[in-house]
Amino acid sequence: MLERFFQNVLVALPKGLYTTLKHSWRKPVTVQYPEEKLTLPARARWRHYLRRWDNGLERCIGCALCAAACPADAIYVEAGENTEGARFSPGERYGKVYEINMIRCIFCGFCQEACPTEAIVLGKVYEFVSYGRDGFIYTKDMLLEPPPDDSRRGQG
Ligand code: SF4
Ligand code: SF4
Repeated sequence: MLERFFQNVLVALPKGLYTTLKHSWRKPVTVQYPEEKLTLPARARWRHYLRRWDNGLERCIGCALCAAACPADAIYVEAGENTEGARFSPGERYGKVYEINMIRCIFCGFCQEACPTEAIVLGKVYEFVSYGRDGFIYTKDMLLEPPPDDSRRGQG
């Protein structure tokens, strides 16, 4: 009993204090998020966006190959027909409804790889915030890149 007491006081206690002091002088490995943010690796893949061609037309042709490739079943696509009066993409069809469920998404990038027109791409924005589940269903309006003459283009 007495031997254990001395072992704790004379060995374990100084050892613990030494460990604490040793680490208290080291530079922290954590950052003060959200004020301070880490630089992401070059190949980091986060929030998606739908791209346009340089003339402003949408790249998405509503083929749903991205949805077929998605292992998490996170993408929902409905195609619509382009007409001369209402043209959204260069081909016959466009992505009329396009949704990604960010709660299901595992950010694997398979959708980006599967897309024949390089319409869907994953960017570097990783902050997903919402008070409800519905806020994590990203609709086409949220995903579609602004037109070329829009000052918001290229952000995110
Ligand atoms: S990144 Fe992966 S999981 Fe997320 S929507 Fe694309 S294919 Fe699905
Ligand atoms: S994002 Fe690409 S793969 Fe998905 S529906 Fe549009 S064109 Fe097809």
